[in-house]
Amino acid sequence: MYSCYSCGKTYSLLEPRWRCDCGGFLTLPEEATFPQEAFFNRGYSIWRYRESYLLPSHAPSISLGEGWTPIVTAKIASVEVRFKLDYLMPSGSFKDRGSSVLVSLCKALGIEELVEDSSGNAGASMAAYCAVAGIKCRIFAPAYTPEGKLIQTRLYGAEVVKIPGSRQDTNDAVLKAAATTYYASHLWNPYFVQGHMSAAFELWEQLRGELPRSLLVPLGSGGYLEGIYRGFRTLQLAGLVRTPPRLIGVQAQNCRPLYEAFLLGLDTGAPIETQPTLAEGIAVSRPPRASAVLEAVRRSGGTILSVSEDSIQAAHALLLRYGFYTEPTSAVALAGWLQMPEEERENSMILLTGHGLKESEKIAQIHGVRV
Ligand SMILES: *Cc1c(COP(=O)(O)O)cnc(C)c1O
Ligand SMILES: [Zn+2]
Repeated sequence: MYSCYSCGKTYSLLEPRWRCDCGGFLTLPEEATFPQEAFFNRGYSIWRYRESYLLPSHAPSISLGEGWTPIVTAKIASVEVRFKLDYLMPSGSFKDRGSSVLVSLCKALGIEELVEDSSGNAGASMAAYCAVAGIKCRIFAPAYTPEGKLIQTRLYGAEVVKIPGSRQDTNDAVLKAAATTYYASHLWNPYFVQGHMSAAFELWEQLRGELPRSLLVPLGSGGYLEGIYRGFRTLQLAGLVRTPPRLIGVQAQNCRPLYEAFLLGLDTGAPIETQPTLAEGIAVSRPPRASAVLEAVRRSGGTILSVSEDSIQAAHALLLRYGFYTEPTSAVALAGWLQMPEEERENSMILLTGHGLKESEKIAQIHGVRV
């Protein structure tokens, strides 16, 4: 059963729906569903934990082997820090966790065509899983989006619909299309968030329960952080984890609605002016699930940081020096970590979210390398 975060109204999971009639976003119950005995003879992907996502029981697993990404330790500024390499995913970003689960839901509901708006990793990821599922996928993007960012999406066979005008015009256009097809929104859909729970489950298994004290993630819409929180909550309710990690979301100073809201103690995103940022993957000025994200940060005992463009550039250069080839957005979490007091840096983990090979030219430019 879905329930609305704002008004509490409930809906059947078998209804193709992406938000409440009141305009609020939907949530799924917090449950202790984590049947370990069932996992042990399964393969190592997010589908090892299929029961925990609370999908309708007849849902297939639309999978490309996503999840179970490596953990690597590095010593930076004389402190050991662990990285989880979530950029090593089938479509090149952690968003495959969410897409795999959301597209599986769509398949279970008999959806044959869906729409989504994204000019980046979410669009590419949804397109990949729709290709596997045999679902027609249309991705809406503003007309000003550079073609380079859409190539991967097109190559998977999705139709790219370019909308003239602002990001808001693209939003309006996708909502209009949603009247006749399904809007599989990575920003709104609670099953996209469910897929991200897998990161928490993996950490628990990979580290044999020895969890880090703090977990840092780049924070855009906050779906990833919300999902990780829900994953640890599941483990806590199942009696397997006593103290989950503090979740630390890091935003770019140039686009920081959640940072401002956290600072001001608001329970929804703060209205802000935005400026362009190197961290394009987290430039979300009005995150629809903000209330749930802020609640997750607070309940985990964590915080939200914001970092300058210069520090993102410097952190990205550092990642390259350590051999991690990520997109600049991923460097935001390391920039946040470097900004923390030294004693708080101990026993942390940083999630590296998106692959650099998608953006080599931009990366070369950022670091002044001529190509
Ligand atoms: C989407 C994205 C993020 C942010 O995830 P949210 O769930 O929107 O907070 C971070 N890094 C990369 C590479 C992304 O594509
Ligand atoms: Zn409602």
